[in-house]
Amino acid sequence: VTRADAARGAGRHRVVIVGCGFGGLFAARALKRAPVDVTVIDRTNHHLFQPLLYQVATGILSEGEIAPAIRDVLRRHRNVRVRMAEVTTIDVGARTVTSVQRGEERTTPYDSLIVAPGTHTSYFGHDEFAQWAIGLKSIDDALEARGRIIEAFELAESEPDPDRRATLLTFAVIGAGPTGVEMAGQIIELSRRALRHNFRTIDPAAARVLLFDAGPAVLPFFGERIGAKTERNLSRLGVEVHLGAAVTGMDEDSLTIALGDGTSETFAAHTKVWAAGVTGSSLGRQLAAASGGTLDRLGRVPVQDDCTLPGHPEVFVIGDLMALGDLPGMAEVAMQSGRHAARTIVARLDGKPDTPLHYRDLGSMATISRFSGVAAIGPVRLTGFVGWVLWLVVHITFLTGFKNRVSALARWTISFVGRGRSERTITVQQVLARQAVAAREAAERAARGGQSP
Ligand SMILES: Cc1cc2nc3c(=O)[nH]c(=O)nc-3n(C[C@H](O)[C@H](O)[C@H](O)COP(=O)(O)OP(=O)(O)OC[C@H]3O[C@@H](n4cnc5c(N)ncnc54)[C@H](O)[C@@H]3O)c2cc1C
Repeated sequence: VTRADAARGAGRHRVVIVGCGFGGLFAARALKRAPVDVTVIDRTNHHLFQPLLYQVATGILSEGEIAPAIRDVLRRHRNVRVRMAEVTTIDVGARTVTSVQRGEERTTPYDSLIVAPGTHTSYFGHDEFAQWAIGLKSIDDALEARGRIIEAFELAESEPDPDRRATLLTFAVIGAGPTGVEMAGQIIELSRRALRHNFRTIDPAAARVLLFDAGPAVLPFFGERIGAKTERNLSRLGVEVHLGAAVTGMDEDSLTIALGDGTSETFAAHTKVWAAGVTGSSLGRQLAAASGGTLDRLGRVPVQDDCTLPGHPEVFVIGDLMALGDLPGMAEVAMQSGRHAARTIVARLDGKPDTPLHYRDLGSMATISRFSGVAAIGPVRLTGFVGWVLWLVVHITFLTGFKNRVSALARWTISFVGRGRSERTITVQQVLARQAVAAREAAERAARGGQSP
């Protein structure tokens, strides 16, 4: 279909976007003035800024600040329709997407399809860990983690048995990548600063925060020097870092690790956060099968250099679900691949040839605690206060919505300059969220044929 065909009324080109995370949102935005009809389908009603989930999980930001409603973000995009539903089937032969909303199925036809459902938490074959170690991939996860962390201090305050009290006041974070480091840093700040003078029986500052990773370094992506420095900073703050420590077992109140020398060790720890890994959405399996290929080691779909599915130039797989060269699962990759898919669709309508995705690496960053961060931009490495300021500027810039930027800045002032955490509410809704997440994970396991990723 050319732009002229479309204008002649042969029917506007229909673009369906599955998932409205960083990839899906940037694709939809880039189609704003294009002569196409766009349908965005997401299982949630919000666009989630995942890099700040740990701040919701530790009471700094509210969920609304990092998860604005998709239809509000896209309200000025008159050619975009939003549907909140779970996509269950992609039929690349019939060119349709089937989605389910409260048990009701709908089939949506497309001319071009952009698939951006991202990843979900992987427990590396130990799906039973999910009930004790909460992942950090959704708002439900973050609120659940927040509830468990805050509740642990409440339970400890009323606990007469000192051993049990110590178990309740031990927090284990598994995975020493950016999310694990940020979680460990913020739980320590919560216990040492934010909760000070709040309790009468316990001293919240006596809480232990343990950080485990099977690998040999903290923040391996940032290089050896930054990893070693971050490890020292975490230790100084009070985080106990255990590297070369693969978690092999856990239950409600403990966690067991295997060490490189063949020995194992068990720690009493009530609250556990899993930041160790993710695997591609189960929709990837359907796409790989349809293109006669297989998923890569991380459960991602191998694509051509223009982000299209082999044999299906009308299907784009972008963001975290895309396996393209050595591009990592990062927000910037999702945004640039989303924009590229949208521009390719428009270029085709203009009769122009396809071009490969040229990724521009803008670097990566993480915070360790207040006023301390790390950033890697090309060969440049920034640490400490300078790294933290850069982190602040980038996150304020990319947070969706002006109001959210203003209120996040206010909250950061309260939490980092002062010591307050405004978001410490534990609600009954968490019980429902826990059930919903468990049901969804069970459904996803069933979709994977009962196999662990
Ligand atoms: C805790 C955490 C911290 C991170 N920190 C950083 C960071 O500091 N810097 C960085 O660059 N990257 C970071 N990332 C990675 C970054 O968030 C991802 O790379 C990025 O979100 C990928 O974008 P995406 O569009 O591919 O997927 P996502 O952003 O995950 O979006 C996928 C969307 O698809 C929807 N969806 C999924 N399945 C379905 C379905 N079946 N039907 C309908 N909708 C569906 C989901 O609801 C979601 O809205 C972090 C990730 C996490 C989890």
